Amino acid sequence: MIGSRVRDHPEVHGVHDFVAYYSGHVIEVEFHAEVDRDLTVVEAHDIESELRERVRGVEPVSDARIHLDPAGVGEWKDADVAARTSAGG
Ligand SMILES: [Zn+2]
Repeated sequence: MIGSRVRDHPEVHGVHDFVAYYSGHVIEVEFHAEVDRDLTVVEAHDIESELRERVRGVEPVSDARIHLDPAGVGEWKDADVAARTSAGG
């Protein structure tokens, strides 16, 4: 499947917020991929390009919107949930 192609990339530590939807007769996908936080912009760019090629190799995916996250850093929505949880809600 598409998601496993992304997760199989050696530089990807995790994938979340993966969505795929039809746009006419093709599929567009969106996902967040966690990568090392110390990557250079060039390295991150190359990974993103590779991930896009991987998912576009799956018929009938036409395009991919990829958001790279630094691994281990909670995003605001995750951090918000954690904060509310630890506050005892
Ligand atoms: Zn994310």
